Amino acid sequence: MELLLASSNAGKLAELRELLGAGFQLHAQSEFGVGDAGETGLSFIENAILKARHAARATGLPALGDDSGLCVDALGGEPGLYSARYAGRHGDSDANIDKLLGALAGVPDDARGARFVCVLALVRHADDPMPLIAEGRWEGRILHARSGGGGFGYDPVFFSAAHGCSAAALPAEVKNRDSHRGIALARLRTLLA
Ligand code: IMP
Repeated sequence: MELLLASSNAGKLAELRELLGAGFQLHAQSEFGVGDAGETGLSFIENAILKARHAARATGLPALGDDSGLCVDALGGEPGLYSARYAGRHGDSDANIDKLLGALAGVPDDARGARFVCVLALVRHADDPMPLIAEGRWEGRILHARSGGGGFGYDPVFFSAAHGCSAAALPAEVKNRDSHRGIALARLRTLLA
């Protein structure tokens, strides 16, 4: 099955290729000159579907869209859909973390609950009325300061209750398996089996 990944992220492409295995020929949307879709939805699910439909419409191929982010209880779910550009500039992780730690200043440990969320949406064609949806959640809390040297984004301040350390302190293979993205990918594979 030929499938288009509605993303320009090379890391995501490699991870998905490995997980989906030989039955799928996964292409990057950049191979077809498809640009990014407007992320105008109000939920991760809506944005994942918007991305998938945009890529399927531009190419005629089945497409997989993904959307992810960090939701913090004490902030009413923020930064949520706006995780990548929380502090203003897309992908400025250092500024995003500084803003998050500032917003949570004085909030005690037991009120710092948070989760990473990832949604994958597969459409067989642009107007598919029944997208396959796989969601993964990773529960934790926000630390008071950065910890760990790996990962990306909010990993240094996300304490995983299940692992007893920050996401940035986990070996990559453990994070990839147990994270919101790993869980969503495993669910997608089940849906496709
Ligand atoms: P996107 O799904 O690639 O648009 O990612 C949204 C944003 O959420 C990223 O830019 C990060 O700020 C944050 N994020 C998503 N997944 C992770 C993760 O596994 N670790 C740290 N930050 C993440």
